[in-house]
Amino acid sequence: MRKNIVAGNWKMNNDLSETETLIRELKLQNNPSDVEVMIAPSFTNLWQAFNTLKEHPIEVIAQNMHFADSGAYTGEVSAPMLKSLGIKTVILGHSERRAYFNETDAILAKKVDAALKNELRIIFCFGEELKDRKSDNHETVVGNQIKNALFHLDASALNSIVLAYEPVWAIGTGETASPEQAQDMHAFIRKTLAAKYGNDFANEVSILYGGSVKPSNAKEIFSKPDVDGGLIGGAALNAEDFFAIANAF
Ligand code: PGA
Repeated sequence: MRKNIVAGNWKMNNDLSETETLIRELKLQNNPSDVEVMIAPSFTNLWQAFNTLKEHPIEVIAQNMHFADSGAYTGEVSAPMLKSLGIKTVILGHSERRAYFNETDAILAKKVDAALKNELRIIFCFGEELKDRKSDNHETVVGNQIKNALFHLDASALNSIVLAYEPVWAIGTGETASPEQAQDMHAFIRKTLAAKYGNDFANEVSILYGGSVKPSNAKEIFSKPDVDGGLIGGAALNAEDFFAIANAF
């Protein structure tokens, strides 16, 4: 059975003391037993967050990493560095990385390989822009993002991959894909995986929805059969909101 997952992407928010405060508040919330709950603080606060949550079911994950294991890449962080902290999961391909830091499908394919080589689990993000949806190209765009970055992998690699469909037009805009739009795309994604890897593998992959998920809309979105949870931005910065979402299955 595939897992339900709710992951909070803190983006470039929260300094060290704000990180400590939010984690303290998160620990006071009711942790659902059948949902994997994760938070992704910034690199500078990962070690502190990881240690503070060592005995707690919330998993601390990273927002990004470089594809090289080490070397002359000023300002970057590698998979072995994350691993050495105890981090087990990394987000790759977020639309903000693609848009502001020029992460192409080819670069992401290298990052995916580096993460897998270092035995990190990946939350792989992708999603169409508004113009793609308006021109009815959203499935083609999403299909290509998945194929270009992942289809060189063997089926067994899918055990280490969680997918996160995040339509760019819904991220941080307050505008959410309707539960039906999310379900339609998630079913398409699963069909795309099944065509390459077979139904058994495709059915085991958790596919998260991201883009303005809040306590008020999470239940309906998570009730869809191919939606296995969410990648949460803004609402993950408030402990009560985040756990209202984590408890919305
Ligand atoms: P949002 O961000 O929930 O603030 O829309 C989601 C994300 O970027 O992962």
